[in-house]
Amino acid sequence: MNSEKPNVKINLEDLATFCKKKGFVFQAGEIYGGLAGFFDFGPLGVELKNNLKNLYWKEFVQKREDIVGQDGAIITNPKVWKASGHVDTFGDMLLTTKDTKTKLRADHFIEDELNMPGDALGPKEIEDLIVKHNLKYNGEDFELPIQFFSGMLNTQIGADVSKQSKAYLRPETAQSIFPNFKIIAETSRQQLPFGITQIGKAYRNEISPRDFVFRCREFEQIEMEYFYHPESVCEELTQELLDTKLKILTAKAQDDETFEMIETTIGDLHKDESYKLNTFHAYWLAKYYNWLTNEVGLKPENLRVRQHVQTELSHYSNATFDIDFKYPMGFKEMLGMANRGNFDLTQHQQHSKTKMEIFDEKMKSKAIPNVIEPSMGVERFMMAVLYQGYEDDKERGNIVLNLTPKVAPYKVAIFPLVNKAGLPEVAREIFNELIDEDIEVLYDKSGSVGKRYARADEIGIPFCLTIDFETLGQSNEDDSEEVKAEKLANKDSVTIRDRVTGKQTRVEIENISAIIKNLVKGKVDFDLI
Ligand code: ATP
Repeated sequence: MNSEKPNVKINLEDLATFCKKKGFVFQAGEIYGGLAGFFDFGPLGVELKNNLKNLYWKEFVQKREDIVGQDGAIITNPKVWKASGHVDTFGDMLLTTKDTKTKLRADHFIEDELNMPGDALGPKEIEDLIVKHNLKYNGEDFELPIQFFSGMLNTQIGADVSKQSKAYLRPETAQSIFPNFKIIAETSRQQLPFGITQIGKAYRNEISPRDFVFRCREFEQIEMEYFYHPESVCEELTQELLDTKLKILTAKAQDDETFEMIETTIGDLHKDESYKLNTFHAYWLAKYYNWLTNEVGLKPENLRVRQHVQTELSHYSNATFDIDFKYPMGFKEMLGMANRGNFDLTQHQQHSKTKMEIFDEKMKSKAIPNVIEPSMGVERFMMAVLYQGYEDDKERGNIVLNLTPKVAPYKVAIFPLVNKAGLPEVAREIFNELIDEDIEVLYDKSGSVGKRYARADEIGIPFCLTIDFETLGQSNEDDSEEVKAEKLANKDSVTIRDRVTGKQTRVEIENISAIIKNLVKGKVDFDLI
């Protein structure tokens, strides 16, 4: 599908190489040649991922009374997947070439070849398009009719290797939430509207995992189901949220093949009934968009909202809007936000014979709630943050990873100027104090300070502390009296350096943890410390 190409500052292969070299992420079982679609996260990757997930959890669970968390099992009763429709319909159309038997995902092939959304095309429509446009792959024809390929990864449970023991690795976390809706509403004493969220692994037998960690077979999702009475309106939708500005690629611009984006506000989208953006949907789109831009630090010019075209919508969804990020391959889905109506709860009610209705105190009536579902992949989120932050700084002569301090794997690097004369002892004391204060610190004792700064820049550390002889109040014999007095005045202070500007100043040891915390939270400007 058309996706405006960005100025690629680093291509995917080089980004993958950088991530491997620095220990963010690399192929699972790399020493055996890896396994397509599976990745391991190294020391920096795990910290970065945790920070992204924790930032979400804090904003959308801990700070709110209307959203609670859960951690569902990866393998659940297979009836869940029958009820949700996954067993019968979750998967993709598979194209196989006649000679080399190369396998391609049909919707992606159509998107790439014909510049149109391929998501919701049926097998017949795809075959017609192939015939009409005489589409081939590397000069090869396709085997027809095309086949359906299930995206579910199967496993067997227990000693009885019969059909009954077949189970599935979940292809999304959302279906662990719906069956728990009633039990969680009751145990956490939630009233409508309220949400249940979880972060966890999902597995899809993707036909062609590709684009680094963008399309994996094992990945992590951050999903939320926000339940509301079908006739209620979202009271939290403030004017400020309605005023949220964004760029949107409308369904019409895709249907007309102009692919021109328009600048608009959530309020205008909500007002125009053709978008079918109800108050809860508008609220969550605005909330997420603002969180991604204000808290996580993704730049609005790297984001767009894309309205799903009619043929792409699942039969139960009234409206879906993706938030796309401008990756090296162009704008692609980072998260989806669907209005799923009451499809899932109704299905689970029918299949499990458990009532999914709930009484809404304000509406004074019982109903199976409707649902807005924001769903984001952690790997795509992480890839966006890394790609945006990556900068080859020619002036400094090294890579600088401009991560927002809140998401950076380490907030501070500590350097004793030399590894003797009492400096490591002071550095260790500061290190321990910062760790006690829950600040992620990297202790780096080798190489020149310049080299250590460069290493810190490359992995996105926002602040560096250097412990030098002035920290001990020491000066050189040949220093003038004035310089000696200055150095003495610097006793019990260290140099702090800001990654973004490269500026340096001195801070008192006793204030370091408070200063770092405020800098990381953005409560104080580096120039004002
Ligand atoms: P796509 O059209 O790219 O296959 P999707 O629409 O099937 O994605 P959803 O089912 O809506 O994706 O999943 C929600 C989110 O999970 C996506 O926005 C994405 O961030 C993430 N996700 C989905 N599939 C993958 C995958 N194979 N690898 C990594 N992340 C994924």
